[in-house]
Amino acid sequence: MNGHFAAVGDGPTAKHYGHGIQVIDEDKAFNTNLNEYLNETDVARAGFNYHLISVFGSQSTGKSTLLNHLFGTEFSVMSETERRQTTKGIWLSKNKKEGANGGDVKMADNILVMDVEGTDGRERGEDQDFERKSALFALATSEVLLVNIWEHQVGLYQGANMGLLKTVFEVNLQLFLKDKQSLTGTLRSQTRSLLFFVIRDHIGNTPLGNLRDTLIQDLARIWSSIAKPQGLENSKIDDYFDFAFAALPHKILQPDKFLAEVDKLGARFTTGHRSTKDQEFSGGVFLPEYHRRIPADGLSLYAGGVWDQIVHNKDLDLPTQQELLAQFRCDEISREVLVGFDSVIVPLEEMQTEATRLGKPMVLADLGASGAVAREKCVRAFETQASRYHKGVYAVKRGELESKIDARLKGLYQSQLSAAHKAGVVAFSDAVTGAVKSGQKAGGSYEFAEIVEKQKRKALESFKKEAQSLLIQGVAWTNFKPQYRLFEKELDEVSARLRKEEMRRLAIRVERWVKSRLGDAIGVEFNKLGSGRGGSGAPENGDKPPSDKDLWDRVWNVFISIVGEAETRFADRAKSFEASADEATVGLWRLRRKSWVALREKIEEEMMESNILMKLRENFEDKFRYDEEGVPRIWRPTDDIEGVYTRARESTLGLIPLLSRFRLEETYAAPDLTEFIGPQPAGAEPEDEEDLAPIGGVDEEEGKSLEEEMTVLSESKRQDLVVRFKKMADGVYVEAKRSAIGGITQ
Ligand code: GDP
Ligand code: MG
Repeated sequence: MNGHFAAVGDGPTAKHYGHGIQVIDEDKAFNTNLNEYLNETDVARAGFNYHLISVFGSQSTGKSTLLNHLFGTEFSVMSETERRQTTKGIWLSKNKKEGANGGDVKMADNILVMDVEGTDGRERGEDQDFERKSALFALATSEVLLVNIWEHQVGLYQGANMGLLKTVFEVNLQLFLKDKQSLTGTLRSQTRSLLFFVIRDHIGNTPLGNLRDTLIQDLARIWSSIAKPQGLENSKIDDYFDFAFAALPHKILQPDKFLAEVDKLGARFTTGHRSTKDQEFSGGVFLPEYHRRIPADGLSLYAGGVWDQIVHNKDLDLPTQQELLAQFRCDEISREVLVGFDSVIVPLEEMQTEATRLGKPMVLADLGASGAVAREKCVRAFETQASRYHKGVYAVKRGELESKIDARLKGLYQSQLSAAHKAGVVAFSDAVTGAVKSGQKAGGSYEFAEIVEKQKRKALESFKKEAQSLLIQGVAWTNFKPQYRLFEKELDEVSARLRKEEMRRLAIRVERWVKSRLGDAIGVEFNKLGSGRGGSGAPENGDKPPSDKDLWDRVWNVFISIVGEAETRFADRAKSFEASADEATVGLWRLRRKSWVALREKIEEEMMESNILMKLRENFEDKFRYDEEGVPRIWRPTDDIEGVYTRARESTLGLIPLLSRFRLEETYAAPDLTEFIGPQPAGAEPEDEEDLAPIGGVDEEEGKSLEEEMTVLSESKRQDLVVRFKKMADGVYVEAKRSAIGGITQ
């Protein structure tokens, strides 16, 4: 069995740990493969469900032999013939036995055993340094310290064992000085250890009870002899240690009995508990209070850190070591759990980035569920592993992890909502426009305000659903109310724009209506020209025939009444789709202006040279060719053709000044157009003015006066008209004259 140093010598890749692993080698170097060993033996995943035992005692007292029998380990033992130290440094191996006491008792899970190089070794001479260092190391990690001692050494206060125990006690005080409860001196130490004395080569003459009493007395003497740090002068040995005892027969002389007793002894390595405070414990040797509370997956790091402090003779401050360990492990665990998180989140991030790059923001399906599950899984995984470490460090690191996760989710969620926002606005706008169009197709009976209201509700609901799907209970930032409000605000802006468009459509419809009404009504008024003096234009209903002088009054009144009606229509309709007062005011103002322009166009049409000339001709002929009774004249040579002609001509010519200006009869002035149109409303925006033609006298800066606006025929046109009319009239006269002479009538 000698010389089989497996694993370590073979380098870090070696997988065969038959003899366990040399944690500390003869050069006092820590073996970082410890974690690999713990992984291979399935201990690393055990959390706190593992136990650590160290064995102490003089060299060649059968320690390794005992461990191998107790735990099925394969620590090297000294060959019977060589008598040379075998165990070097500190070895560790996992218990390979499942049961003890003939298989009746199942041993505790994951017992790790440390075989510590014996003290007073010949080959290390008087070097007590390693003894102290290994005691420190064992106490910092182990729950149970097996102290191996020959029966004949019991009571020999001066023995090497006493030196070892003294060291253990001193080191213990030094280590757990920071244990606050022990400093109060009123409570048992939080960090306790079990000193388990195994008395070897027990002959049986002296009962174990007596041996125990002797040992306890010795221990008390040692305790009183050690120098205690300030504040702990009165501390008792029981404040830190519990004791257990066992005796084994001589292995060589009574091999069968030895094996039987060892098997019995193994049954004590189960978990135990103290029935009440300060009482004897029952069950096995592993009491919860002995556990150093280093999670198995951090044990290697912790042990390495502790050994590093020890070997460099630094003050070993366990709380600090635990904090450092916690920081390191929490960071490691954090990185590990983030891998799982990334596997879910990165593809989503990439999809989003790509969609954004293409300018087509994407609403990812079930993002809220995926995100929440990934977050929960990640945080839970972290909690499961990391919460075993230093509470304060854990809390900080958990916070850091959550911020990291949340920053990523926040990015995703915000893009998601921004995509939902954009898509929602487009869908809303399309839906409203579509509904308006189909309403128009179906005959124009649709309620714009209702359409907007319905679509807005739909859009808000869908956005709300998306936002709520992203909500994570208890995570404040997942409340997206502000985004919801922003969305609603934009919908309102879009609604306002759509309403404005609807207003424009309404305005166009009303303007068309005005134009058509004006076309008829104004045409009628112009057709009445000259009808007051008989002829074909006389009214049939017997009313007082209209006078030409109030032509413009009639035109103006007809205009005012049509526009008034149009205004009522417009205002009613605008109200029905909840246009604001400002919007309605602007719309009415525009309508009046456009109506005026339409009137002007209609008048211009009526006043086109061909039209006006025809009207004048009709007027002239009515007076010239028909008598007062409307009977056609048959000219005779005796008739005063010239007189009738001159009267008819002058009367018709008299119409030209009347027609050339828009003037009301009573005031002999233009109607008050400025008052009719009214001032530009405060709510009008530049786009409201864009398509408006300037109106003289109303838009003063246009440089055109009201007089000019009201001029229907310019001076030159008038003169031209007079000349042409006269020519025409002359022609009619000549014809009449000829017919009179020739006796030919029409
Ligand atoms: P260690 O140095 O304490 O680990 O001791 P070992 O386990 O290497 O054993 C040292 C020597 O003691 C070996 O030769 C063993 O055969 C022998 N030995 C082991 N167990 C016993 C025992 O119970 N009684 C006696 N007298 N010798 C033993
Ligand atoms: Mg040994």
